[in-house]
Amino acid sequence: MSSRDFLEKDFYKTLGVPKTASSDEIKKAYRKLARTHHPDANSGTGEADRDKAEARFKEISEAYDVLSDPGRRKEYDDGRALFGAGGGGRFRTPGGAGAPGGQTFDFSDLFGGAAGGAGLGDVLGGLFGQRAGAGRQGGPRRGADVESSVTLPFGEAVEGVTVPLRMSSEQPCPSCHGTGGRDGALPHTCPSCHGTGQTSRNAGGFAFAEPCRECRGRGMTVDDPCPDCAGSGRALGTRTLTVRIPAGVKDGQRIRLKGKGAPGERGGPPGDLYVVVAVSPHSLFGRSGDNLTLTVPVSFAEAALGGEVRVPTLGGSPVTLKIPPGTANGRTFRVKGKGAPRKRADGTPRGDLLVTVAIDVPTTLSAEARSAVEALRDATTGDDPRAGLLAAPPKGA
Ligand SMILES: [Zn+2]
Ligand SMILES: [Zn+2]
Repeated sequence: MSSRDFLEKDFYKTLGVPKTASSDEIKKAYRKLARTHHPDANSGTGEADRDKAEARFKEISEAYDVLSDPGRRKEYDDGRALFGAGGGGRFRTPGGAGAPGGQTFDFSDLFGGAAGGAGLGDVLGGLFGQRAGAGRQGGPRRGADVESSVTLPFGEAVEGVTVPLRMSSEQPCPSCHGTGGRDGALPHTCPSCHGTGQTSRNAGGFAFAEPCRECRGRGMTVDDPCPDCAGSGRALGTRTLTVRIPAGVKDGQRIRLKGKGAPGERGGPPGDLYVVVAVSPHSLFGRSGDNLTLTVPVSFAEAALGGEVRVPTLGGSPVTLKIPPGTANGRTFRVKGKGAPRKRADGTPRGDLLVTVAIDVPTTLSAEARSAVEALRDATTGDDPRAGLLAAPPKGA
């Protein structure tokens, strides 16, 4: 952040306090706002809301950082009085030179020579660990990917379903609301490292940077650590995620839910959640792509003479299927639009139900049925189903 941005911001407005506010009033206003907008307080909301809350939280922290320090507050007040508060386009960065009209100011000397305002960035970054310099220890880290599993009944896997998933994860400590301070006291810039998270150690005339011991590299400390989380602000807990399993998921499939994994650290993005889906088989229906399959027993008479059979559909009312006379065992009929929902909207929202007939041979016969079948045999002696089977024996081997 440049000093120019710094002066153009109205920190009083950000905290909602008058310019004459006492340090106590400023502190109170900050605490109230910080609690509402702390990213951890918004972890249950959507990504966009979380980003918004985080941006707002940074604004609030930035304003507080300056206004809570009497020396810096005076510099800020003086700077704004000198150059006009909220002057918008009046200020130009050194890089903007060459634009017609307007003078070029370089404010970098105003704040104790902190080049480019990097010092302030570090102070702010300490809270989230978002260091201004890339590659330094403790930068933003993406949350871990998390895997979970769910078993769905066949019908729900076909139609898609919303399921609650209980997952254990790191959460803001409930005792301190994630601040790490006893009773929710807010952290402040670490006095040992001034928020950088690093201190230098002299060894043999050389200075080595190492993580600050006082704040363990966080850049922020609390005076009185929360006894339940030892000042870390983190606790293990379970959260329940509502997960939408899309229609048509298959047994063993792994579904990726972007951004639903573990929360990121120090401003990093959250990880992804992978849900491995097991689908319990259905007692009647099977699946073949977008189509559902069903085997329907028919009697020999129905297959030979034709007929109408009622067949069930998945999650709908039964349909009537016409069996033409002379239907062979294993023949498959198509009932349009009674299959699984299609992923591609190509005109037909659902696949088909493929009904395969299986001729049912009775294991016992009544005397009447037996004589009827014998009569059938006698009436069809001329139709040998095996004619041709032995007439031309296969040549060779
Ligand atoms: Zn420190
Ligand atoms: Zn705590």
